[in-house]
Amino acid sequence: MRIILLGAPGAGKGTVAKLLTEYDGSVQISTGDILRSAVKAGSEMGKQAKDYMDRGDLVPDSLIMKIMESRLQEADCQKGFILDGFPRTIPQAQELANLLDNLDIALDFVVNLNVPRDVVLDRLTTRRTCSNPACQEIYNIKSNPPNTDGSCKKCGSLTIQRADETEEAITSRIQVYEEKTAPLIGFYEKMGILADILSLNSKDTVSLIIAKLDQNRCASCCCKS
Ligand code: AMP
Repeated sequence: MRIILLGAPGAGKGTVAKLLTEYDGSVQISTGDILRSAVKAGSEMGKQAKDYMDRGDLVPDSLIMKIMESRLQEADCQKGFILDGFPRTIPQAQELANLLDNLDIALDFVVNLNVPRDVVLDRLTTRRTCSNPACQEIYNIKSNPPNTDGSCKKCGSLTIQRADETEEAITSRIQVYEEKTAPLIGFYEKMGILADILSLNSKDTVSLIIAKLDQNRCASCCCKS
């Protein structure tokens, strides 16, 4: 599959993307995860991104486009990809459209994970993430807690509350989302490729996305004739 997941911070893009990778081996591409690994590794890219991220601000479009241009051309993307957290601005969406055109890649569709604001806020403040960059499993202290000692059930590393999940950073991230990212919903709606899904449960959302993929594929092959 080749899809984009849109949604506010805490809408569950990461969880839905991970579940979707199990469906057909498509890779999850999370610009947030790529940037967090770069910050942790202390690379030049990480140094450029860190302050923006800690404030809950977006990193510059030019840096993100450089990352995505090379990431989308890596061999594992040939099986398909789920874009999680990218694009985040109209200029990124426009540049992505040009990039996909140049690479001769067509998107299946764009999913907007529509989640009420109070649910998003509750999820963000109760979220814990595995600190191992190779794992990054997501937990929720209420509905899906890590081990009782706070370690990750998958790899045993410590789970942490991200620096950008303090109340101040969360408020800023939601504001930034409403100002810069929410307009993408209209952008993709106009292109006729938006699927808006009321997403309260990740597994139900994944089933809806897979049903839509199957429906689209069917419409472009056997059922067309
Ligand atoms: P996320 O894990 O997707 O919420 O991303 C964490 C942080 O990484 C964001 O708050 C931004 O600072 C940065 N980031 C991730 N993706 C992008 C993007 N596409 N454009 C700009 N900044 C991004």
